[in-house]
Amino acid sequence: MPTEGTALKKPDWLKIRPPGGERYRRVKANLRAHGLHTVCEEARCPNLHECWGGGTATIMLLGGVCTRGCRFCAVTSGHPQGWVDPLEPWKVARVLSEWNLDYVVLTSVARDDLPDGGASHFAQTVRTVKQKVPHMLIELLIPDFRGDREALRKVVEAKPDVIGHNVETVERLTPKVRDRRARYEQSLRVLETIKELDPTRYTKSSLMLGLGETEEEVLQTMRDLRSVGVDFLTLGQYLRPTRKHLPVVRYLPPEEFERYRRLGEELGFRYVAAGPLVRSSYRAGEFFIKSLIRGKVEPNVEANVQAQE
Ligand code: SF4
Repeated sequence: MPTEGTALKKPDWLKIRPPGGERYRRVKANLRAHGLHTVCEEARCPNLHECWGGGTATIMLLGGVCTRGCRFCAVTSGHPQGWVDPLEPWKVARVLSEWNLDYVVLTSVARDDLPDGGASHFAQTVRTVKQKVPHMLIELLIPDFRGDREALRKVVEAKPDVIGHNVETVERLTPKVRDRRARYEQSLRVLETIKELDPTRYTKSSLMLGLGETEEEVLQTMRDLRSVGVDFLTLGQYLRPTRKHLPVVRYLPPEEFERYRRLGEELGFRYVAAGPLVRSSYRAGEFFIKSLIRGKVEPNVEANVQAQE
């Protein structure tokens, strides 16, 4: 097992494509002009150029400073001291109205400094985007809001099409990998509560592999997620953002991800995206829309889906 000081050599299948393309430049300029953050950049996502080049980006609400400090994550930790941009919902809606997209992912850092963890801000953003860009399908990737049911209710009642919350890793490794305030059981309860509040909302979760988990632990995590009704799952390789972060224990070959994908589908997930470079939001719209077209999900009544495969 590698220690903090050693690093495994990256295999060829993790080579990252270089940036470029007109669309990539346009999306970047557009986000900058509105002072918006993306998790793609903050978390040094390996697919940034592929996703942005395809005309989409995951927008990060509530600033770029997180009140937590997970040991795999490159987002800056600190104390935002209650700072919120009240105009952000409108800025996001405006940016999205200028892009030719069907699907967007909105996420945020953890904001334990806010009374509701930022839930009302998420809800306001969903409502504003739906109002200004009615055909847009919206996926939220939310923090755990400390498991607060009323905060989750605010988010659910805004009716985003998909609500994601990541368990990130298996139960045994959670205290080592995630911030101590994030608990495996709490994350499962968050996903369960969303379904209790509105069984028609689709839920999603993600796991990073290569942190030292066993196959049985991965399968148990999948079963746990299915037991609380999670619809969609993504599995990707953990990549160490800097030498200060947790080391990679193992690089899984693409065939292993493919096996997990099949096992996930057998367990009943509506779709599973699995691969070395898959991330929580990776091609999220494409997978959702394909599932929709194949009849594996029903469009929510609010959504006017215009997607074509
Ligand atoms: S909660 Fe953890 S994973 Fe999420 S942004 Fe903060 S430090 Fe990163």
